[in-house]
Amino acid sequence: MTTVGTGRLTIDRPLPAIVGGEARPVPDVIAAVEPATGRTWAHVADCDAAVVGEAVTSAAAAFETWRATSLAHRQAVLWAIADRLTATAADWPALLATENGRAIREAGLIDVPTAAEIFRYFAGMARGVHGETIQGAPETSHVYTRREPLGVIAAIVPWNSPLISIAHKLAPALAAGNTIVVKPSELASVSTVRFVEAIADLVPPGVVNVVTGLGATTGDALVTDPRIAKISFTGGSASARTILSRAGARLTPALMELGGKGSLIVGPDADLDTLTDDVLTGIFAANGEVCFAASRLLAHADVHDELVDRITARADRIRVGDPLDASTQVGPLISAAHRDRVVQAVDRAVAEGATVCAGHRVPDLGGELGGGAFYRPTVLTDPDGGTSASCEEFFGPVLTVERWSDEDEAVARANSVAYGLACGVWTTDLARAHRIAGRLEAGMVWVNTWFATPLGQPQGGVKASGFGREGAAETIAEYQATKVVNVSLDTARPPMWD
Ligand code: NAD
Repeated sequence: MTTVGTGRLTIDRPLPAIVGGEARPVPDVIAAVEPATGRTWAHVADCDAAVVGEAVTSAAAAFETWRATSLAHRQAVLWAIADRLTATAADWPALLATENGRAIREAGLIDVPTAAEIFRYFAGMARGVHGETIQGAPETSHVYTRREPLGVIAAIVPWNSPLISIAHKLAPALAAGNTIVVKPSELASVSTVRFVEAIADLVPPGVVNVVTGLGATTGDALVTDPRIAKISFTGGSASARTILSRAGARLTPALMELGGKGSLIVGPDADLDTLTDDVLTGIFAANGEVCFAASRLLAHADVHDELVDRITARADRIRVGDPLDASTQVGPLISAAHRDRVVQAVDRAVAEGATVCAGHRVPDLGGELGGGAFYRPTVLTDPDGGTSASCEEFFGPVLTVERWSDEDEAVARANSVAYGLACGVWTTDLARAHRIAGRLEAGMVWVNTWFATPLGQPQGGVKASGFGREGAAETIAEYQATKVVNVSLDTARPPMWD
């Protein structure tokens, strides 16, 4: 890795695919574009179906030995990966900030330690893998289950938190005894290749392979390979539909972590001081490019106006700038094309009746940042939730605030969207908190907080937000099949045949 004259990161060798523990050079490359400047800063391999096939072959061969490793060994490997991440923690933030525009302070504070913690959590879980004895079986038999790995996992991840997304797939899949082929997003592949290079000496060859390239070509070749035992996907619903139709044709099982439109319902009795901070974090952390984002605030009429004033004033003060600058709070979006989509989506919502209270401006930061995909943090009001801003996932720093007076109506509005990932309720009334939490259609509900995701707490959605859970004990089961063994302990049989 080198830096250019401006001090920005540049990688001057094309990054290869990683197959069987070795670099697999590929003649065709894809440019990695830095969102803050629009310049090309690296190149990654554009893998065709033949390279994908090699990666699956390598993972299938490695599965035969990896599946037989002791739980203690898998635990040690996962713990060593976590240690490697921690020991190299200083190397990642600039890379992540360059790659997807994540503010460097967040990359250091959140992405690297979270990824390490995911490996440590599943290192612990690895030792707990066990089957069960079925006690309801007759005394004349001994029936037990074994939890067995599935085989080769195809892991497909998005660009918004690459290190964390990879950790969420690799750690449980390896703990359960599977091998893996990872396909990162074409918009953020460099960190994944670097990560797998960085752990190459810790995992046996072929256990972790990486193919880079476009979804429609490289990704499609991976999910349609008949040797894939399970697809583990994180990304958007359009890609999920295509992948599931391909998986359906082969009956390949899948775990789907998809998008969201997170509603935070604020009661009339909420503590507005803490709430305001959490609302800002909920929508503007990671540049608003988070599936769990609190993108929709449903505020009780008693607190609505004050809340809008507070949030607007704070949003206007947010420092948007170079993600490599430690004082930056919000960096650029992933690309100019994505920024333009967000701008158009907000324009549409305004045409439908939403009001802009803060942001909705493309700032000109000048100099090398002049080509960056920047967008000011935006607050809209949409009192009765009638515009598209209250139901579409923008995947950017855009908060929509609605007003409610009737609790049933607030819950109905929150549940009216296609998604069901994360929701929240903010109130000091315990009964209200539990009542609303029980009624929200979501995989996760936060009460008087947002984004709290300790390991062990299942992460995932319902409805169009997908199925399967990551980050928890039950995740191991996503990567295993139950085999039952029924042993007869006697020779007596019913008189069925002459
Ligand atoms: P995306 O769906 O465009 O791409 C995700 C990955 O799928 C990429 O690696 C892409 O190359 C690949 N892909 C696309 N089409 C494919 C195909 N036909 N076959 C195989 N692979 C294919 O999503 P994105 O734009 O990278 O990420 C944003 C989306 O991800 C948002 O909707 C966001 O909410 C969601 N997301 C969800 C979670 C979660 O945990 N629920 C986490 C992060 C992001």
